[in-house]
Amino acid sequence: MEQKKGQRLVLFPLPLQGHMNPMLELANILHSRGFSITFIHTTFNSLNPSNYPHFTFHSFPDGLSPTEVSTSKNDILSFLLHLNTKCVQPFKDCLATLLSQAALDVKPYTCLIYDGLLNFTQAVSCSLNLPTVVLRTGGASSFVVFAAFPLLWEKGYLPIQESRLEEQVIEFPPLKVKDIPTMNTPNQEKFVEFLKAIIKAAKASSGIIWNTFEDLEQPSLESLKNQLNIPMFPIGPFHKYNSTSSSSSSSLLIEDKSSISWLNTQAPKSVIYVSFGSLAVIGEAQFLEIAWGLANSKHPFLWVVRPASVNGAEWLESLPKGFVEELGGRGHIVKWAPQKEVLSHVAVGAFWTHNGWNSTLESICEGVPMICMPCFSDQKVNAVYVSRVWKVGIQLENGKFERGEIEQSIRKLMKENEGEEIRCRALKLKDKSISCLVQGGSSYQSLNSLVSHLLSLE
Ligand code: UDP
Repeated sequence: MEQKKGQRLVLFPLPLQGHMNPMLELANILHSRGFSITFIHTTFNSLNPSNYPHFTFHSFPDGLSPTEVSTSKNDILSFLLHLNTKCVQPFKDCLATLLSQAALDVKPYTCLIYDGLLNFTQAVSCSLNLPTVVLRTGGASSFVVFAAFPLLWEKGYLPIQESRLEEQVIEFPPLKVKDIPTMNTPNQEKFVEFLKAIIKAAKASSGIIWNTFEDLEQPSLESLKNQLNIPMFPIGPFHKYNSTSSSSSSSLLIEDKSSISWLNTQAPKSVIYVSFGSLAVIGEAQFLEIAWGLANSKHPFLWVVRPASVNGAEWLESLPKGFVEELGGRGHIVKWAPQKEVLSHVAVGAFWTHNGWNSTLESICEGVPMICMPCFSDQKVNAVYVSRVWKVGIQLENGKFERGEIEQSIRKLMKENEGEEIRCRALKLKDKSISCLVQGGSSYQSLNSLVSHLLSLE
C-alpha cells in the first residue's frame, strides 16, 4: 500500500511506449520530492502495479474495440481520436470515484498530470474541480511548429504538395516543407483540428512539464511561454534523475540482454546501434537497403528489428538466406533492446534513429552522434534540430534510402573530418544535459519551481 506522505497527485499516461516511459520517470521524480502518486490507466497496454509498489494504480475499461486497438499499430491519429472519445465517460467515472474516496481522507488530490495528447482529460478534470498540469513527452521545438499548423495551413504550406517539398518554410528556419511534422494520414484537416484541441486544453491548464532542458531548446520554450501564457517547467532529461526503477519495468516488450553481452565483445566506439522505436513501420524494400547498407559499411552493428515492424513480415523473413551468418558475428539483431543501457555502452559509436523524442534525448545524454531517419510527426522536426541546429548528427535524405547512401553516411559519421566535428559537439551537448540537473542548473531550478507550483495548487 502507498504510504501517506505529501500532497497527492493523479497521473494519466497515454498507453504507448514512448509516452509511458517519461510519465513513469516523472512519477519517480515527483515521488522522490515527497508527493504521493496515483496512476489512472487504460486496460489497453495496462501498467503493471507490481513493478511500482510505491505508487497506487486504478485502471478503467477504455472500451476500445479490437479494430480501434489495432489502429495503435498503423494509424496513430485514429488511435488518438478513439482514445479521446471512448475514454471520456469511464475516465470521468474513475476520477470521480477516486476524488470522492479522497474527500474522506486527510489529504485530498492536488492536481491531475495528464499526457498532452489526452486532451479530453482537461475538461473532465475541470468539471470535477481538479486543476490539471500537462506533461508534453515530445520536444518544445516540434511543439512550436504544431502550434503553428493553422498558420501553415493559411499560408498554403499545408496540405503538403510534392512539388514544394524542398522549399524553405520562411517562418521556421531551417525547416523545409518536407520537414513539417505531418502524420501519415489522408485526413490532414482532422490532424489540424486535433492539434487545436491540444493547444486549447494546454492553455486551460495550470502549467506544462517538459522532458527537455533550457540549453537545448531555450528559444522554443520562450516562444511557447509567450504564446500559451501558462507556467512552463523544462525539468528534463527525466531519465537522468536517480530513478528507483529500471527501464525494463515499463517496457512493453522483453528487452534482449544479449545486446549488452554482444556489445561487451566489441571495440570502443565501433558499433552502430540501429532502432526505429516502438511504432514506426518500414517497407520491405527499405528494410533490405538498410540491411545491405549496414553489411557493406563493414562496421559492427546492433539492430533492433521489432516484430511486425517490416510491412508484411513477422520478423526477419525478408532478409536473404544466410545474410546473418555471412556477417560472421559483425552484426547482432534483436527484437527489443535495453536502449538506455545500450546507448551508454562504451562500444556504441553512433545511433541510427527515427528521432522519436525519447530516443533523441537518450542519445544526446550519452553524447552519441546520430544518423537521422525520421518517419512521421515530430520526428521530422527533431531530425532537423539534430542535424542542422545542434549539429550532432546527419540526416539521411527522405526517399533516398539506398544502400550506397547509407554506407556513405555511416562512413562520414564514424570516420571522416565532418564526423569528428559532430562527435565533439555531441560530447559538449552531453555535458550540458548533465550540468542542467545539478544544483543551480536550469532543470534543477525548474523542478524546484514545479514542486512549489504543485504545492500551491492545493
Ligand atoms: N526503446 C527500448 N528498446 C528498443 C527500442 C526503444 O527500450 O529496442 C525505448 C527507448 O529507449 C525510448 C522508447 O522506447 O525510451 C521509444 O520512444 P521514442 O520517443 O524514441 O519513439 P516512439 O517509440 O515513441 O516512436
